[in-house]
Amino acid sequence: MSEVRHNWTKEEILEIYNRPMMDLLFDAATIHRKQHDPNVVQVSTLLSVKTGGCSEDCGYCPQAARYHTDVEGNDLMSVSQVKAQALRAKEGGSSRVCMGAAWRNVKDGQEFDDVLEMVRTINKLDMEVCCTLGMLTENQAQRLAEAGLYAYNHNLDSSEEYYKEVISTRGYQDRLDTIDNVRKTNVTVCSGGIIGMGEKIEDRAGMLVALSTLDPQPESTPINALVAVEGTPLEEEKPVSIWEMVRMVATTRIVMPETQVRLSAGRTQMSREGQAMCFFAGANSIFAGDKLLTTPNPDVNEDMKMFDLLGMNPQKPFTKKVQPQSVEASDSRFEALGEKPKWTRPEHKIERNEAAKAKGKLVK
Ligand code: SF4
Repeated sequence: MSEVRHNWTKEEILEIYNRPMMDLLFDAATIHRKQHDPNVVQVSTLLSVKTGGCSEDCGYCPQAARYHTDVEGNDLMSVSQVKAQALRAKEGGSSRVCMGAAWRNVKDGQEFDDVLEMVRTINKLDMEVCCTLGMLTENQAQRLAEAGLYAYNHNLDSSEEYYKEVISTRGYQDRLDTIDNVRKTNVTVCSGGIIGMGEKIEDRAGMLVALSTLDPQPESTPINALVAVEGTPLEEEKPVSIWEMVRMVATTRIVMPETQVRLSAGRTQMSREGQAMCFFAGANSIFAGDKLLTTPNPDVNEDMKMFDLLGMNPQKPFTKKVQPQSVEASDSRFEALGEKPKWTRPEHKIERNEAAKAKGKLVK
């Protein structure tokens, strides 16, 4: 019942998503219990190591330079700042630190060398290290792997069809190419998406087709509920209901039985009861810390209280895969090649993104 399949169709996934809620919950929970300890949740801390000023036009993102939002930009944090934050995260019960930089793609040079040093530093704290830095070449993925990276996050965001309605500055294939470059290393893949961006249920199913037909499937899949931020093109989207979240989590669990399904953005809008239903439906990881890059997230203590209440425990680091060894910069086998990732920019503009950009210019 829970073997991993890589040939899911949109119709099959829609049938699962639309099952009566009690059947859906039962099926997802049954698969979840076969593959995972239902009382263990992996906890990650997301750290924005470089905030704002991004050249992309992702319609949901307050860090895109072209939109006017309240996000204050920051240069890349120092290695010592990152180490201090990682230690705090470890004390708070996190087994993983995920470092996010608002970059279109990684550029070889001092900043990337600093990120590699951050990866080595956190790995030496015996924590899993994840990065989300935009598009990557194969050489850059190899360098991250050599530094001891555990996971790389690169979300598909939505279905290929709806992606074109949200982002114009890169294509779906560019996302898949970066995931492919990560797959050429021993770094695990974290890839998921966002619901509540105005997409149809078919697009949610389409995204799950794209993720589940990857072979191997991603080791981690974040399911985000859009946090509609003022100034972004999606500022007027209505919040998704908890029922939609539960359906999405349960469907993801069924089509990707071994993946860690991550409750990500939008958790502040969920009650404890709602989150508990998501855990029952197969979610088994969360982001901790009071901020998710730039949007609010529940306080760590609140999460630990919720775990106590539910009798759940945080997952220990390197439970699913052994700790990678970090190679010091001086012993690296790779040199910076100065490559740019190839990208396939579609020749189209997105009306609501252009409108938000124009509005942003007026305010600035
Ligand atoms: S989601 Fe990432 S790539 Fe897109 S605008 Fe925001 S920071 Fe840039």
